[in-house]
Amino acid sequence: MKKTLTSRDLELKKIRDEVLVLKDSPLYTYRTENHYFPVIGEGNHEAKIIFIGEAPGKNEAKTGRPFCGLAGKILDDLLASVGINRPDVYIGNILKDRPPFNRDPLPDEIAIYGPFLDRQISIIQPQVIATLGRYSMKYIMEKFGLTDALRSISELHGKEFQAEADYGKVYIIPLYHPAAAIYDRSLLEILQKDFKILEKYK
Ligand code: URA
Repeated sequence: MKKTLTSRDLELKKIRDEVLVLKDSPLYTYRTENHYFPVIGEGNHEAKIIFIGEAPGKNEAKTGRPFCGLAGKILDDLLASVGINRPDVYIGNILKDRPPFNRDPLPDEIAIYGPFLDRQISIIQPQVIATLGRYSMKYIMEKFGLTDALRSISELHGKEFQAEADYGKVYIIPLYHPAAAIYDRSLLEILQKDFKILEKYK
C-alpha cells in the first residue's frame, strides 16, 4: 500500500525539487557536467537527532546519498556503538552539491545552500543538532545565536549547548567530522567518547 505523505514529507520534497534546479549555485554546472546528484539529506522526518556534515564527497554525489563513503562507514560504526539506528536519525549537509576536489566550502556556497538547511531543521524540529566538523559547527552556532561561545572544534567537541529554535528548545552538540578519524586513531577514540552523549536522546 502506498504511504500517505505527511506535511513534513511534502515540505522536504519541495526542498529537493528546488535544489535540483538551483542554477544560481556556483556548483550547479560542476554537478551537471559530472552527472552528479545533489545530496539533500536522508533519514527519519520525525528524527530527534539530526547530523549535519559539510558537503557531499564523490561517492555521495554519485549516489545522491549523504555519508555513503568511507566517512559514512565511520559514522555508521559510531552510531552502532551507541545503539542508534541510522534510519531513526536524519543526516544532511550544509552544501547540497559536491565542491570540486572536496575542497572546503566557500562563503558564497554556504550562503546559497544554508537557507535550505535552515528549512530542513525547521521542518524536522529535532531535539538535537549534532554538527560534524568545524564548518557545520560554525554555521549552526552562529545561526542559533551562539557566536560568542564559538571556539576551535578541539575546544568545543562533545559539549552541549542549549538554544532556542523556531519550534522550541534544541541542543547543539559539536562533534569532529568522521573523516578526520580516517588517518588519526586518537580522533576516533574522541568521537567514540563524544557519541556517548547522544545515548540519552535516542
Ligand atoms: N562528508 C560530509 O561532510 N558529508 C557527506 O555527506 C560525506 C562526507
